[in-house]
Amino acid sequence: MTTIKASCPTCGEVELTPADVSLMVCSHAPMSYYSFCCPTCTDEIRKPADDHVVSLLVSGGVPAQVWDLPAEVLEVKTGPVLTYDDLLDFALDLGSTDLLSAAAASPVRA
Ligand SMILES: [Zn+2]
Repeated sequence: MTTIKASCPTCGEVELTPADVSLMVCSHAPMSYYSFCCPTCTDEIRKPADDHVVSLLVSGGVPAQVWDLPAEVLEVKTGPVLTYDDLLDFALDLGSTDLLSAAAASPVRA
C-alpha cells in the first residue's frame, strides 16, 4: 500500500494512506487543497495543492474531487470594507425585523 508522508504543524511528519487524504481540485487552481486528519493529534490539516502536489497525490492513489469556486468569490468588490460594527448592526437588525427583504430593498439609513 502506498504511504503518503505529510506534515502536521503540531506533530511534524506523519504517515498516511491514500484513504486518509482528501484532494479537492478547484476550477480556480490556486484554491485547490488537500486535507487529512492528523493521526496523532486528530486536528484536521488543510494545505494548498499546486499542480505538482495534485499529480503526486493522484499517482499515489488519492482520488481527486473537483469543485467549482463560486463566481462571487472572484467578483471585484467596490465600496467601503465591512466592519465589525456593520456586522453587529446587521445582526441586531435581524432580531428586530420580520421583513428582512423589505429592509434590504429600502434606501440605506444614515
Ligand atoms: Zn498533529
